[in-house]
Amino acid sequence: MRLARLGDPGAEHPVVLHGDRVLDLAGVTNEIDGAFLESGGLDRVRDALPDLPAVEGAGGLRTGAPIARPGSVICVGMNYAAHAAESGALPPPHPVIFHKTPNTVVGPSDPVVIPPGSTKTDWEVELGVVIGRRASYLAAPSEAMAHVAGFVLCNDLSERDHQLATSGGQWSKGKSAPGFCPTGPWLVTPDEVDHVNLRLRSWVNGEPRQDSTSADMVFSVEHLIWDLSQYLVLEPGDLVLTGTPEGVALSGRFPYLKPGDVVELEIDGLGTQRQELRAYS
Ligand code: ZN
Repeated sequence: MRLARLGDPGAEHPVVLHGDRVLDLAGVTNEIDGAFLESGGLDRVRDALPDLPAVEGAGGLRTGAPIARPGSVICVGMNYAAHAAESGALPPPHPVIFHKTPNTVVGPSDPVVIPPGSTKTDWEVELGVVIGRRASYLAAPSEAMAHVAGFVLCNDLSERDHQLATSGGQWSKGKSAPGFCPTGPWLVTPDEVDHVNLRLRSWVNGEPRQDSTSADMVFSVEHLIWDLSQYLVLEPGDLVLTGTPEGVALSGRFPYLKPGDVVELEIDGLGTQRQELRAYS
């Protein structure tokens, strides 16, 4: 299933996509959040299909993030060997994590404001994992998928000076500017995508940047969820970003983003994003 949230920021309505029809979930839930996922909400949607009313004028509505604001957004760094290399690092022996503030989660095509004074705003296409069931001290990676509600496309936007030069040694300062986590368009349930082999791509102004596959991850989705659960509690509705492949501006091969640039992202089966960059005012 593919779920989405349509409408103005803060007033999105949950929908489910069924073939080429957009169906209203108002009779099932008023939100796609941790409580909905934890209480078997996805099963209730499945049971209600296809007898749900269509959303009138869905094509004219803004697409929001497909999940409400998560409790946590946890990101994994250096999870593709070629990206670690272009960043001047070796692949880490254990997953490296940092946080984005949950209020960075916005719609997939909302404009992105470059932070004031920034000269190093960068893109990162990433496979996002939405937690559906509380995960704490999992015994093995094989238990992880039972705690996953679905997958989303994310852009882990990054300000590299804030991440590296003035970070104080931790990356979160460079990852949490307003709107720095475009998410969606859809929350896709695991039965619909082969998450171990998904093509991830990005473009800037129509020119290709990243083109890789989730098969190249250093640590698999299952390993990451198991590993994280040894150190923190993942709660329903939380979002885990699983790292970006090579082809970002940090490599020195491409210019950083400037006002007027357009970033596009795609992951097989998870939809596309398009963001126009704007100056802060
Ligand atoms: Zn990232």
